Amino acid sequence: MAIEERIILDASAGKKTIFAADAVFPVSSGAVRGGAVLVEDGRIVSVGEFSEVRGAEPDAEVREYSGCVILPGAVNTHAHLSFRREDGPGYAPFSEWLGNLIERLEENEKRLAENARDGAREAVEAGTTFMAESSPYGGCLPYLAESGMAGTCFAEFFPHESGDGTPEGAVEFIMGRVRELNEGLPPRVDARVSVHSPYTVDPESARLAARRTREAGERLAIHLSESPEEYEFIMKGTGGLADIFSSNPWGGTGKTPVKYGEEIELLAPQTIAAHLATGVGDKEVEILRRSGVAAAHCPRSNENLGCDVSPVPAMMRAGVRVGMGTDGLWSSQSLNLFEETLVAVNLHGFDGETGLRLATLEGARAIGIEGETGSIEAGKWADFAVVEVSPSGLDAEREVLEAAAENGAAATVVGGRVIHERVGG
Ligand SMILES: [Zn+2]
Repeated sequence: MAIEERIILDASAGKKTIFAADAVFPVSSGAVRGGAVLVEDGRIVSVGEFSEVRGAEPDAEVREYSGCVILPGAVNTHAHLSFRREDGPGYAPFSEWLGNLIERLEENEKRLAENARDGAREAVEAGTTFMAESSPYGGCLPYLAESGMAGTCFAEFFPHESGDGTPEGAVEFIMGRVRELNEGLPPRVDARVSVHSPYTVDPESARLAARRTREAGERLAIHLSESPEEYEFIMKGTGGLADIFSSNPWGGTGKTPVKYGEEIELLAPQTIAAHLATGVGDKEVEILRRSGVAAAHCPRSNENLGCDVSPVPAMMRAGVRVGMGTDGLWSSQSLNLFEETLVAVNLHGFDGETGLRLATLEGARAIGIEGETGSIEAGKWADFAVVEVSPSGLDAEREVLEAAAENGAAATVVGGRVIHERVGG
């Protein structure tokens, strides 16, 4: 279904619309009871109490969500749309899981369109307004683009099968592919390069891809320091991943994956590194801080695949930008970013306010789009999740997260367009 058919209300062009609810949680400032947000041309004009917002714009259309709160939409900093939960290989230790995944890839390719559409829909219904998606050669980009979400599709490449197979040729190939992918896209959707991982992309290709994208001022996505097997492969050149990728000879560097990532120039402020779950000690956190790289935290995937707990509190204390990611449906339970965030809140002992920030504004900072989205502030895009909840306790933000985790969003608004609204919500 084309995005135009999905739009329930369009406050993106010309019209002024007030979105009102029992409360607004801007995230960048304190909650407003009886709050409202004025939207024009898809952007937030003002936020405040309903009476003030209404008083200033008496002719604007009002969209009222009673029994609900309005918060910034979820920013998913690491997801895959190509997998359908029912076809998954099941959870297992990482290299065993990856071996099973690879066996299923060819069959899975036949269902790619349907899987990606369903996945994007699930994310939208969970209040996601921006998604950083990774798929081989950007295969899921059309489905991200038609979902109505804003986002980036990171095109993964595998050097041995790309271009002429040399690092230079492989990187030329993926840069060219990404240029093509960027043609004719809706606003706020783009394609960028991903260096899939330290065990699938050789160091020369990885370094070259990182340099070229950095020179072009473009973001880069990587998986890094995810599993015990990746750690063993990079450090010693042995273990489950060395067995699967026996033709990849560059392991056994004697370095941790983060140190290795630094040496091959993968780590920079434009880079978003997913997982950072295994083998990330104080020295690695210092490298992450120094390089300015951002982290995408995917705690359920890590738990399901026998990876360790990412040292998120230590990274945050060090000033590393951390956002949340769901990963894909073959390694995790859902594409509901708020549900993922609630797991992180419980895992690290965060309060609800920290959780809500991680799911929204911190995710936007990790991606480098905090000037455009991630909080409800004048000038930013009108990207909201409307969640049915009447918080009554001491930690209102936690109650909001719990409701969004449990029931998803009553409505999802991207750039002023209502692209999902639950009947009766
Ligand atoms: Zn991933």
